[in-house]
Amino acid sequence: MSAGYPFSAIVGLADLRLALLLNAVSPGVGGVLVRGEKGTAKSTMVRALAALLPDTETVSGCRFACDPAAPDPACPDGPHDASAPAETRRARLVELPVGATEDRLVGSLDLERALAEGVKAYEPGLLAGAHRGVLYVDEVNLLHDHLVDLLLDAAAMGTAHVEREGVSVRHAARFLLVGTMNPEEGELRPQLLDRFGLTVEVAASREPRERAEVVRRRLAYEADPDAFARRWADDDAELAARIVRARDLLPRVTLPDAELERVARVCAAFEVDGLRADLVTARTAIALAAWQGRTEVDASDVRRAAQLALPHRRRRNPFDAPGLDHDKLDEALEDEPDEPDEPEQPAPDDDEPDPDGPGNPGPGGGRTDRAPGPRTPAEADQSNGSAPTGSGPEASAASGPAAAAPAAEQPAVAAAEPFRARLIAVPGLGQGAAGRRSRAETGIGRATGERRPSGSRTSRPHLLGTVRAAAPYQRARGRSGPGLVVRRDDVREAVREGREGNLVLFVVDASGSMAARARMRTVKGAVLSLLLDAYQRRDKVGLVTFRGAGAELALPPTSSVEAGAARLAALPTGGRTPLAAGLLRAYETLRVERLRDPRRRPLLVVVTDGRATHGRDPLGEARRAAGLLAASGTASVVVDCESGPVRLGLAARLAADLAGPVLGLAELAADGLAGLVRDLRAAS
Ligand SMILES: [Zn+2]
Repeated sequence: MSAGYPFSAIVGLADLRLALLLNAVSPGVGGVLVRGEKGTAKSTMVRALAALLPDTETVSGCRFACDPAAPDPACPDGPHDASAPAETRRARLVELPVGATEDRLVGSLDLERALAEGVKAYEPGLLAGAHRGVLYVDEVNLLHDHLVDLLLDAAAMGTAHVEREGVSVRHAARFLLVGTMNPEEGELRPQLLDRFGLTVEVAASREPRERAEVVRRRLAYEADPDAFARRWADDDAELAARIVRARDLLPRVTLPDAELERVARVCAAFEVDGLRADLVTARTAIALAAWQGRTEVDASDVRRAAQLALPHRRRRNPFDAPGLDHDKLDEALEDEPDEPDEPEQPAPDDDEPDPDGPGNPGPGGGRTDRAPGPRTPAEADQSNGSAPTGSGPEASAASGPAAAAPAAEQPAVAAAEPFRARLIAVPGLGQGAAGRRSRAETGIGRATGERRPSGSRTSRPHLLGTVRAAAPYQRARGRSGPGLVVRRDDVREAVREGREGNLVLFVVDASGSMAARARMRTVKGAVLSLLLDAYQRRDKVGLVTFRGAGAELALPPTSSVEAGAARLAALPTGGRTPLAAGLLRAYETLRVERLRDPRRRPLLVVVTDGRATHGRDPLGEARRAAGLLAASGTASVVVDCESGPVRLGLAARLAADLAGPVLGLAELAADGLAGLVRDLRAAS
């Protein structure tokens, strides 16, 4: 196997470099979330970091990497004798794939062996493999929410815990957690964002000289990995030694009260929730002092720590630009006026050694303050005119809320009073997380039977069913001991039926054809009612709007109905009607969401009068987009907003293309509220 890419040879990305090194020094920092586009060297850097970490001493044969000096008392392979032989291992890098199952992550209990042999037959998962090493999760935002919860719980507790049918296993799982995500593919829930210690924004450099150096080194590495690694071996060895020195120094680093107060001031200034931000900032500043070879935290440590620890905690909604406001940071970092004068500290942005020489862009080189730039309607137009499923919808949707509003825009109208919505469910039997919408097989709920599991393992074995399946064959299998002779195909799992939550994705026409104020008020009231209904049914919601030249994902799928209501209230209206772009944007959003949360079935609610007036063949394009959604098996409902004396019935035709029902606005209410009818009269 050829040598990996050396850590020291990576150009730029100063923030990521420092964030990773500080975590290597102090596990208390709590991991790194790397946000940025694909094609930056983030995964190369994480792999290279693992190679810098000191070797670990482990008990020979222990699958849970117990430290011989302090073995985990709960170790499933234990208890270990003090005299047990030890071995030295490289620090491990474990990668968690997006499609991983819960068993793969936390390990699995073998019911067959447990019944037959009366032992806790536990197969370690990836969390056990990552103990005392690095756990790397590429595209953590696409990981199933349930797995992210398990992962972050383990990271916070330092233990993994598995429980099945009353048998439980617990083992140590302390690891350096690094997650990456491309924010354009969906945000992480805010409460999960908060649980990563540090975040770093990365982007490929725009500096031509630096880009050339990246390519030059990459080519040299590919031509001869071993020779390339040898060239950087001294630099990497020095970094590795510095990690060890900083780890030794760490317990002796002190945080003076003045600096602790500075931490508190900065956290208060950025209005972060709770005390986690203060703790992480303090721990990061301490690690930084140790990294610099100092035994006392100073103001420059606090500044640098704040830049790494606060950006993701300050974020109030996914539409804010990343990063911290520099002026505000400077202001918050200033000494209290009543303190004795101190010389002004020119806060260094990055005082690491500079092994890259001139290729390193220095302070903040890996950062970007770039926000998705506004696109002109003309640009969006062009991309819309291309292939119906290609870059068109993505490109137009990328314009985002920052895009300049077309001239035809009207101010947002307030929503009508919400009403109690009738239940709209996804047909069939789902397997999603518990909720209150569609019928589903769930972990909880009414037991409706037992069956053979479809895979080789099940996480909800049906004990009685399994014993019943094994019982008739005991004599034939020559049972003699106390245990049952149970074979894999005896195992049965419980089938329970309850209700699941769904992803309700609204696609709302906000174009001029819908913009009559009274009508928009009714439409908003209806969507708001459905949003509240979604909240009560524990759905996720998302909102795609279309008008003018394109569609926009106004609310990426979230559990926050407040965010949905806020986006809806501010929704401007007017312009042409790019119905196809709206449907394609929905299609793309659902595709990404299926990766992230494959069991959560979507329900598409298209709120429109069915008109389409933007594009070369507006209605044809819309029908093709609808066909695409229908072919993907998405359950859809069209809410027909057409009103007035002349009706075209286009919404019904769209519903037929989507293979779903069409409902009038008045049919949405659970009990036909008088207010809604009145609103509808006023609108027409
Ligand atoms: Zn062990």
